[in-house]
Amino acid sequence: MSSCFHTSISALKGVGAQRAKLFQKLGVHSLGGLLRLYPRDYQDWSSPLAIAEAPADQLCVVRAQITGAPTVTRVKGNRLVIHAAADDGQSVLRLTFFNNRYIPRLLLPGHTYLFRGRLTRGRSACAMTAPDFVEEGKAQGFVPVYPSTQGLSSRVIAQAVKNALAQLPETLEDPLPPGLREEYQLCHLSYALENVHFPRSMEDLDIARRRLVFEEFLVLQLGLMQIKSGRREENLHPIPDRFPEDFARLLPFRLTGAQQRAIAQGIADMAGPSPMNRLVQGDVGSGKTAVAAALCWAVIRSGWQAALMAPTEILAAQHHQSLSALLEPAGVRCALLTGSVKPAEHKRLLEQLAAGEIDLAIGTHSLISEKVRFQGLGLVITDEQHRFGVNQRVALTQKGASPHLLVMSATPIPRTLALMAYGDMEVSVLDELPPGRQEIETYLIDPGKRQRAYGYIQKHLDQGRQGYLICPLIEEDGSGMMSVASYGETVRAAFPGIEVGVLHGKMKPAEKEQVMGDFAAGRTRLLVATTVVEVGVDVPNAAIMLIENAERYGLSQLHQLRGRIGRGKHKSTCILICGSGGPETVERLRLFKSTRDGFAIADADLKLRGPGDFFGQRQHGLPQMKIADMATDVELLREAQRCARRLFHSGALAGEEYQGLLAEIRELFHKAGGERVAI
Ligand code: ADP
Ligand code: MG
Repeated sequence: MSSCFHTSISALKGVGAQRAKLFQKLGVHSLGGLLRLYPRDYQDWSSPLAIAEAPADQLCVVRAQITGAPTVTRVKGNRLVIHAAADDGQSVLRLTFFNNRYIPRLLLPGHTYLFRGRLTRGRSACAMTAPDFVEEGKAQGFVPVYPSTQGLSSRVIAQAVKNALAQLPETLEDPLPPGLREEYQLCHLSYALENVHFPRSMEDLDIARRRLVFEEFLVLQLGLMQIKSGRREENLHPIPDRFPEDFARLLPFRLTGAQQRAIAQGIADMAGPSPMNRLVQGDVGSGKTAVAAALCWAVIRSGWQAALMAPTEILAAQHHQSLSALLEPAGVRCALLTGSVKPAEHKRLLEQLAAGEIDLAIGTHSLISEKVRFQGLGLVITDEQHRFGVNQRVALTQKGASPHLLVMSATPIPRTLALMAYGDMEVSVLDELPPGRQEIETYLIDPGKRQRAYGYIQKHLDQGRQGYLICPLIEEDGSGMMSVASYGETVRAAFPGIEVGVLHGKMKPAEKEQVMGDFAAGRTRLLVATTVVEVGVDVPNAAIMLIENAERYGLSQLHQLRGRIGRGKHKSTCILICGSGGPETVERLRLFKSTRDGFAIADADLKLRGPGDFFGQRQHGLPQMKIADMATDVELLREAQRCARRLFHSGALAGEEYQGLLAEIRELFHKAGGERVAI
């Protein structure tokens, strides 16, 4: 990065201490940061219309000449109303402004201006209220719209950017060397910055954007590759390349074709020359646990240990339960290591683990704690990976000497995000559900029909089924939405004689486990819960789910929730109660109702709600993207990824010409949330 980029923002013309503070609110501290504060939109002033041609009631730009001096009148409440008339030779345009006494000085009779606003058509003339305007000739094709903040308007930001651009040296250093730019047809950084802020045409903007998106992806990919390359290339835990038939025979079911493929692929990886690095992507209920179990078994049988990390205690406990059920008959010693294990027991488990007396450790991120030592860790598995940072994944693999790595993603994260976060991994897709799965019927109702829904639930209960009732809040917050506790009371009253459990994220782990355990064992028949049941909980007898305030959730989250039912042999029903929300919400929920394909849902979610849901929480451990759009820039991501691989493996990065790019990588990952990433 050019050194001038580090200049403090307050050194800029027009930016005093006050404004500098506001800029900092937007995350802008330096000149470079300002130039990387990209517009979120552009106003198109490039093709003004004649008044007669302009569409009514829509934002448009028209050209017209002011025909007389604007008049200012004072009305009630000491407000100013300013009227002006303009004309384009064919039609008349009446303009109204409020409380801006400078208008007469800005709109001069005989001068022609461009006006941007909503046009209304009256009988004798057209009108615009409080349009933006600029004198013809001074108009610029596209005006950037910045993410502004209170006290710092888009206009002020644009001016600051203009000043910043003017300060750039004639020959700005470009972190992408000329050869690379030529090969991938990318414009120079100066051109890109100039045109991303003040494009003369949409073509120029495309050219600028393409380069900046490419660079952003490239930096991210190279950063990820550097982190991961800390891993040794040599396979220190080779296993025989044989399908674990004898293990498969122990299973209470036949593996699906997809499961068999995934297992065979994992085995082949672990028998190969370098450590396994594989992502198993499979929708809820596709049977990832059995794949994990088979691979654990293969590694353990070759004399190494395995570790499985889950994002929550409940999920870890459940994995422990199902994996030990599958593996202990095969002689595998399993242990659950979470924060809620009693200290003495915990200490004993740690000793056994270090002595190699435990084959498979299952836990939460507590597995990465310093005290946890393995005798010979051969395989690391993380479940629901998108909840862990890259750093955490790496930290767990560092408990062994280059162990194999298997990542299980239950959330069908959008393809683009998968490419990004797991770009270097082989992928197995479980695209086949175990046989005998029942349809889930989904209904969308309004709160007025709640009683009928309860009646429906009662019918399921009468048939011996269990059900979930999901509500969004732990505590009452005055928004009119119910808290879990009070909702629990409502439900108890509505279903007399039925045992009701209540579960939420703020409960102590032991309490949660108690509640979950009661429900799993059928001691409680209804479970009122927040989204803590979202991940992984498996109770096949639960066949009905009612979700209150469904409008509050992203589609992927709803999909996860709904995945808790339809897991057994019973026909299942999911009822969404939609409390409020506009047509978009209804459209979203309709889409959800119509499909059970998690990938389609995830992609739709990404398009509808933006990447914030997946990427906003910083839990992924990846830095935030500034310009790249993960829903639409897939092609560029692929290209950047190919480029990153080539640069990385050819050793080209060591060259002088790439020092600028390396500095960007350091900067990006240094700023990334969570623990520091060692590069
Ligand atoms: P997920 O992919 O969501 O983690 P699980 O591994 O929890 O799915 O499996 C969901 C349910 O399906 C479990 O009850 C599991 O025992 C069962 N299951 C897994 N594989 C099969 C199979 N091949 N045939 C029948 N049931 C299976
Ligand atoms: Mg699972």
